[in-house]
Order: sequence, then C-alpha cells, then structure tokens
Amino acid sequence: MQAALLYGQEDLRLETVADPVPNAGEVVLKVRSATTCGTDLKVWRRGSHAKMLTLPTLFGHEAAGEIVAIGEGVTNWQIGDRVVANNSAPCFDCFYCDRQAFSLCENLTWNNGTFAEYLKVPEAIVRHNLLRIPEGTPDELASLTEPLACVLHGASRSQVRKGDRVVVLGDGAIGLMFVAVLVHHYRAKVILVGGRDDRLEIGKQFGADSIFNYRKLTAKLPEIVRDLTEGRGADAVIEATGVPQTWETAIACARPGATVNLFGGCPRDTNISVATEPLHYSELTIKGVFHNTPGFVREALQLLASGTIQFEWLLSDRRPLKDLETAFRDMGQRKAIKVAIDCSG
Ligand SMILES: [Zn+2]
Ligand SMILES: [Zn+2]
Repeated sequence: MQAALLYGQEDLRLETVADPVPNAGEVVLKVRSATTCGTDLKVWRRGSHAKMLTLPTLFGHEAAGEIVAIGEGVTNWQIGDRVVANNSAPCFDCFYCDRQAFSLCENLTWNNGTFAEYLKVPEAIVRHNLLRIPEGTPDELASLTEPLACVLHGASRSQVRKGDRVVVLGDGAIGLMFVAVLVHHYRAKVILVGGRDDRLEIGKQFGADSIFNYRKLTAKLPEIVRDLTEGRGADAVIEATGVPQTWETAIACARPGATVNLFGGCPRDTNISVATEPLHYSELTIKGVFHNTPGFVREALQLLASGTIQFEWLLSDRRPLKDLETAFRDMGQRKAIKVAIDCSG
C-alpha cells in the first residue's frame, strides 16, 4: 500500500509498504478519510512528539474507515463496518486508570498511520476506542472525533458555568472547536483571539461573542478582556496555541478565582514565568489538560453525528495523499485549517 512515513523534521516520504495484516484482537481499516491536525503539523515541523510516536513512523492519527480484515478473537465487528478508531486507548488497569484519569494512563496504546491506504488498529483500541459511525454521518466529519474528544475533555475540566465569559486564545481547529462547544454546551460568552480574520469569522459563526485579531489590537489583551468584564477578567481562559508567551497572556486575562486551561502543548524544554502574587491572592487555578478519554470519544462522535454544530466548516481543503506535504505547508502558512486527505490511492 501507499503510506506516508515521517523520518524527521519536515521529512515526510510517500512509500510503498506491505499491506497490514491483523494479529489477534486487531482489525485493519481501509482509510476513507484522514484529517490533518495541528498536532501533526507540530510533529512534522519538530520531527518528534513527547508521547505519541518514535521515528521513523507511519504518520497521521485522525481517520474514519471501513473494516477490511479482522484478527483472531474479534467477534463484535464485521467486514464492511464503518468505524472511527481513536488514536489511543488506556489500559484500564494502572494507577491512573483506577482513578478514572484515563488521559494519564501509564500504558496508553498509541496508533499512528492514518495517512495510508490501510490502517491497522491495535487490540487495546479495538477493545476500548473503536466506534461505529452512525448512518448518515459522512466519513470526513466522523474523522474529527479525536480532536473533538480532546476539546470536550478540555472544556469539561475548565470549570465553566452557564453564561460565563471565557477567553479562547487560538483560532486553529482546536480553538474554534472550543468556541463551538463552549457556546453550545455552556452558553458561554466567548472572547476569541486569533491571527486571521477569516478564521475569527468562523469563530463568530460558531457563536463567539467578540473576536480580536491579536495583530491589530489597540491595547494589551488583558486590558481589553478586563474592559469587557467590568474590570475583573475572564471567568475561564483556554489557551490553544502551544506558545509559551501566550500561556503567560492566558494567565494575565483571568479574573480572581478563574481557571486557566493551558491546552496547547508547547515545544520541549520551554518554560513560563508566573507571578506569585496573583497566583496566591487571586486564587487562580492553572491547569494543563491533555488528550481525551473513552467517554469523550463516544460523546464526540455522537455530537458530530447529531449535526447540531457545523464542524464541517473546519475542513477547509481536500487533497489526495500524494499532496500531504503541501497540505502541511498550507497549514503552516495558516492557509488551511484542517485538510481531509483522500488515501484511496
Ligand atoms: Zn488530532
Ligand atoms: Zn492505564
């Protein structure tokens, strides 16, 4: 089969590799839609990821497909089933899984390789995070299950209450998904900050109350936020850029007692500084939230299938597998939000 392999920094190669064969407990999908993700872009640029993969590797982690081969012992799936496979599954057996902290599982099984004609799904994912796509839900929409599950997880841990004013920093697919979910689930009044007017407009269509292009600000962002919140600051702040300096801005936008969710993963070995006084006297909660859990994976697919939110707005482009590198370049230049890759060969 044709598959994209990542060898290092911006070194992606399309190669012919052996078609995967499922071992016991595994299934193989024919990939119907694979979507690019900000995480893929980061990994492509940096040539590494703290947890997800080691090089060289099959690449890509968001996909919907059809089961074409089934390993021994898999009884609840059939050839032809249309499914979404999350890119990980927890072990349900470790210290963290016992505490329901599935995203911290010590033995997360990862899976990469959606930018290929076929995708082998490991046993743990088949068991815990392989979901049937409801009829009528297009494959490319279903392949957004993984990022949406991360966003649902992030939103649920940001202590947002109905009607809260929430700052979202970042107008990538994740930032925009946060806007949609915060407005839909929490009726939040979202202040969205990004760098491109066309994306901010999508945020507005998802229900953001106010939008700001950080390149055109007339005052410092925390001041603008305070102006919009009777001088207090935001009830919650969600950072979705993965830039250390923006993490600091996120903290500065929060009101006393707020929760700041530092959601965007930063480059390795970076640091931020936090003033001790507001942290203590303003009782801030500063937290990182990472990845998703099986519960949110299910919730995400249901939400996508329900059609209540137009998540298809995030698919800005469609390309064949051979143009994958171009897709990443377009994303890097922020010309594309998410690209649906056709891997049919
Ligand atoms: Zn992703
Ligand atoms: Zn575990």
